[in-house]
Amino acid sequence: MENDLIAAVATGAARSAIGVIRLSGPEAAKAAGAVFQSLDGKGLANHPPRSLVYGTLVDREGRAIDRILATWSPAGHSYTGEETAELQCHGAPAVLALGLEALFAQGARQAGPGEFTKRAFLGGRLDLAQAEAVMDLIDAETPGAVRQAAGQLSGALSRRVGEIYDGLVDVMAHFHAVLDYPDEDIGPFEEKELWAGLEEAYGRLTALLASYDSGKVLARGVPCAIVGRPNVGKSTLLNALVGYDRAIVTDVPGTTRDTVEERCVLGGVLLRLIDTAGLRETEDAVERIGVARSRAAMERAGLILVVLDQSRRMTQEDLQLVEEAVALAPTILVWNKSDLPSGGIPTVEGELPPGVEVSAKLGLGLDKLGETVARLLPGPADGTEGELLTNARQAEAAGRAKESVWRAAEGLRAGFTPDAVLTDVEEALSALGELTGQSVREDITARIFQRFCVGK
Ligand code: GDP
Ligand code: ZN
Repeated sequence: MENDLIAAVATGAARSAIGVIRLSGPEAAKAAGAVFQSLDGKGLANHPPRSLVYGTLVDREGRAIDRILATWSPAGHSYTGEETAELQCHGAPAVLALGLEALFAQGARQAGPGEFTKRAFLGGRLDLAQAEAVMDLIDAETPGAVRQAAGQLSGALSRRVGEIYDGLVDVMAHFHAVLDYPDEDIGPFEEKELWAGLEEAYGRLTALLASYDSGKVLARGVPCAIVGRPNVGKSTLLNALVGYDRAIVTDVPGTTRDTVEERCVLGGVLLRLIDTAGLRETEDAVERIGVARSRAAMERAGLILVVLDQSRRMTQEDLQLVEEAVALAPTILVWNKSDLPSGGIPTVEGELPPGVEVSAKLGLGLDKLGETVARLLPGPADGTEGELLTNARQAEAAGRAKESVWRAAEGLRAGFTPDAVLTDVEEALSALGELTGQSVREDITARIFQRFCVGK
């Protein structure tokens, strides 16, 4: 069945200098050309594909509504693989709405979330891991997240998965060779080779799964709890952190995040500050809500900042909190109020987690704090960005592949019949195929693209 013609505004919902309307499907150039009058009067489709044509955008009644640049691409040479057109208008939401409406009058329909990318996937232009990278790239909030998504988009993860896949296909071929001679058992030589193949795949899958730890941090950030006794400066620290690096973290309406939370980038790591109820409020509700709440926050945290007032002596309560924190997640002691005289060096038995002196009030020491965060939550090794697992779907599929390979190896060891072992290898292949989308169920694909923005 041929796809219909879809259209959407591809740029954000807010007013901006430029706004883009895109179209994909049969006769996209013709529909775009019907709402666009090129200055030279030739019409859009008579210009060479992928050139920019200057002209007037008209509404459905033919009235001029903007001066724009338009372009079109033939099928086979576009993002979706279909014939596409793009109208680069001024970014007023009213202009874009009128332009879109005019295209609807030409027979286009509103594209759903991720529908362009879904067509690119179904048309074989991108595999599923690459399609997910498109969404990760749009959502990226740190330079590391950008590089990871860009690498994945260019196929780094798919290649890594593909190598494991190919290795297992070789194993399958060996088994089939054995199965072709049903009277024979697997000889010791074949068994050794099969074993080596499974071991190799198992090792690679283990490493791939381990990459999810840093991949998750890159793609989604780290939930971070700020805890400490009343008046040590938790709220002040939170405000200082949130105001610290506004350059990259922005609240973009209409992105795929479902909750609005305080976020900051510290040491290149995106921290999602866990709302310990009222942390932000000057009334300090958190102090009244007390210990239970901060414990709940610590339990969800991937990083805990225990704030201490260094102008006062460390108390038993402080120590207890530190102990609790250390048991739950990587912990940093934030010795706050460094602008005040020290209250004395605490005498503590045993080792304390790494500490940093800051003055939240004056914004001092935050760089040092960032360095400590980066040290405690190391990113991926250089050059591996792009080939990490970054979401739960990928990790789940890789986990299933690993289990199947394990079962195959166990079966081989226990002397199961070749076809029983083969079933497990096939399952591993199928799980790996889900990662790149070769063998993924349609409802799962639909769910993935549902999380995209409209227009991508
Ligand atoms: P919380 O109860 O832990 O959230 O502490 P707050 O952030 O509300 O701060 C308690 C008091 O300490 C306020 O009066 C702040 O102005 C003050 N404070 C916070 N950070 C600093 C700091 O770095 N230096 C100094 N001198 N005072 C601070
Ligand atoms: Zn507070």
